[in-house]
Amino acid sequence: MSKLALLGGQPLRRKPFPIYRTLGEEEKQAVLAVLDRGVLSQFLGTWSPDFNGGPEIRALEKEWADYFGVRHAVAMNSATSCLYAGVGAAHIGPGDEVIVSPYTMSASASAALVYGGIPVFADIDPNTFCLDPASIRRCISPRTRAIIAVDIFGHPAAFDEIMAIAREHTLVVIEDSAQAPGAKLGGKYAGTLADMGVFSLNYHKTIHCGEGGVIVTDDDAYADRLRLIRNHAEAVVKAKGHREPDALVNMLGFNYRMTEIEAAIARQQLKKLERLLEPRIAAAGYLAEQLAAIPGLSAPRTVAGARHGYYVFAIKYDAARIGLPRARFVEALRAEGIPIGMGYVEPLYLQPMYQQRIAIGRHGFPFTEARPEAVRYERGLCPVAEAMHFESLLTTDLCHADIAQSDLDDFVAGIRKVIDHRNALMEAA
Ligand SMILES: *Cc1c(COP(=O)(O)O)cnc(C)c1O
Repeated sequence: MSKLALLGGQPLRRKPFPIYRTLGEEEKQAVLAVLDRGVLSQFLGTWSPDFNGGPEIRALEKEWADYFGVRHAVAMNSATSCLYAGVGAAHIGPGDEVIVSPYTMSASASAALVYGGIPVFADIDPNTFCLDPASIRRCISPRTRAIIAVDIFGHPAAFDEIMAIAREHTLVVIEDSAQAPGAKLGGKYAGTLADMGVFSLNYHKTIHCGEGGVIVTDDDAYADRLRLIRNHAEAVVKAKGHREPDALVNMLGFNYRMTEIEAAIARQQLKKLERLLEPRIAAAGYLAEQLAAIPGLSAPRTVAGARHGYYVFAIKYDAARIGLPRARFVEALRAEGIPIGMGYVEPLYLQPMYQQRIAIGRHGFPFTEARPEAVRYERGLCPVAEAMHFESLLTTDLCHADIAQSDLDDFVAGIRKVIDHRNALMEAA
């Protein structure tokens, strides 16, 4: 077998892997129709018929709500904005504890901080990489108010248990389903499994419109507050008739508005969701079959009753069984022309903001409002997340609709080539 590229041989693959493209004629026509109408955003920041946006926004929200089977969908300019608005709508305030995952995109945790809330990191499950309900239970204190649970990599979090915990302790649950549109648990769509659910439409996600997000809920009061926060709440509450102190809590508004163009694209993308998701699931199934024959590598698991969206295909790497440190394996695989990620993002509490407890202003707010036990962000806090990130996981986003069988075969062949040459690699080290 030919020599490893890392040791001077020919790389297995020179051609770049196909890029995921989801835009077509439908999106082009939809954008042109908006341009012809000439109103690129119809939102008005006053209490008026246009307070909730123009025709594309309203149509997107109706179609989104119908598709996912929820009462309300509120479109915003990003999932990050949706998370922030969700925390605001949940009435989170300074010192309130919000249980979050350390193994996710940073906004799923920092959303709490925007309202002075304290992110309390629970550990993840070593099979789904989503929050571990047992660890959530250990994090609950009298000051816990909410949980933000993420459907990481496209696998739904354990919402049956999470919602039971929430009911027991009267907590609000926000589902971050940015990576899991179309995934399911027990026949219900991911994103609809909690009190509020957030989807992302950013360029890197399964369906996208450039930048955008949608937050869904069955609760009329949350929907009302989400729409207010999206569009300068403080300026409209009087005209809308909100005067009681409680109705003013967190009614400091933002401009989280999505444009008509983005909404028009998002409407077309939603129609394609199922068509874009099925090839992901098929590709993941094929890769899992191939990896099953390689001792030391494990394909992602899906819990019973769940449908995985495979935004990321996360492989567990057993360095002892393979006989190569993970970093060496990754270096050799990349040299073969096979892109692969080592872990995902560093567990969030290791970010400087948490380590130094400096977020809003220079005096430590809101960490200064916290119980000391709630702001222990030291290394070792979430051992499973750390083990997954620093030792075990390999990640790829190759499971998408534009990937061919031959691309997946190259991916597997690259892995096999590196493993077959592990002795040469170790000797060269
Ligand atoms: C992408 C992502 C977000 C943020 O989405 P934006 O639309 O870019 O703000 C939030 N949470 C998770 C888990 C994500 O993957």
